Amino acid sequence: MHGFQRLHMVNEIQGTDGAGKAARRLRKRGGRFGCFAAVLMLTGILAGCGSAEKLTADPGAENGGALAETGTAAEAEQGNETEPAVVTFSDRISRTGDLILVSADHEYDFEANADLELVNIKETQTYDYPVDKDEFMLARKAMSSLDAMIRDCDEAMGSSLTSVSSAWRSKEYQQSVWDEYEELYGEEYVTKYVAVPGCSEHHTGLALDLGITYEDGSAGTFSESENAVWMAQNAYRYGFVRRYAEDKTAITGISNEAWHFRYVGQPHATYMTQHNECLEEYLEDLRGHTSPSEPLETEAAGHAYKVFYTSEETIEEPDGEWTVSGDNAGGFIVTVLAD
Ligand SMILES: [Zn+2]
Repeated sequence: MHGFQRLHMVNEIQGTDGAGKAARRLRKRGGRFGCFAAVLMLTGILAGCGSAEKLTADPGAENGGALAETGTAAEAEQGNETEPAVVTFSDRISRTGDLILVSADHEYDFEANADLELVNIKETQTYDYPVDKDEFMLARKAMSSLDAMIRDCDEAMGSSLTSVSSAWRSKEYQQSVWDEYEELYGEEYVTKYVAVPGCSEHHTGLALDLGITYEDGSAGTFSESENAVWMAQNAYRYGFVRRYAEDKTAITGISNEAWHFRYVGQPHATYMTQHNECLEEYLEDLRGHTSPSEPLETEAAGHAYKVFYTSEETIEEPDGEWTVSGDNAGGFIVTVLAD
């Protein structure tokens, strides 16, 4: 699992102009550094050929698929003790990742996310819950967490009624949803409940709507179900958050939606749920933690994590395992496994 994530991370950074610069800087240092740069180049190539794909199958509810094992800091520092290792993030990285904010003010960048890996839910699910449409897709990284979340919810409820009523949406699909609901319910309703095409979280592949589907195929009302209560309380354990709560409508700009969940990864979902912060508030909170030595601290599945925000494209590389996500507002959130 970590093996893949390292490849993925290297590929992310390697595949950008900024990363190119970083790699060149690394090569200049020679010696072990030169070897490391070569490894970095090589793994970048491997990651691009699809060998990594198989290994992503289970990013795991275990750690929320959160961390990359870079293993680079130790090697890099040995290469030159006077100059700390650095890592450079590209502008593209600021628009991708588990923590990107997609809202009316923060349009989703389809181009930056062109390599988003989607899987067909029905073809991939490891637990047999109803999926409203055969073509529904979700980001591969969130898939096993979704399976585990629905399975555990059903088990807790003693029934198997939880279904998926919406998942990834292309810009065109979101436009069709907008048009359909406008025709059915009028302009006021769509403005309140449907995101403008390009501004829907569903574009990320990390968001989905849950439903209730009875055995005869008829639909129930998720927001009035016990399942909704269970999900709101437990989704964080699988890296998901209930995204649009009643008490956050002034911040999110979206009405209360008991059915809409967003994958952000376990350490982040845990903090957001414990502190009753929606994604907008969490990102704001993180912007107050710009120093790796004064991070926001959270935990998930028995591990401690340190999280900090930076608007700098080049930072000193964190020690140990870490990942980076953009905020879709020009910044970077770095998550470091602390133990
Ligand atoms: Zn939704």
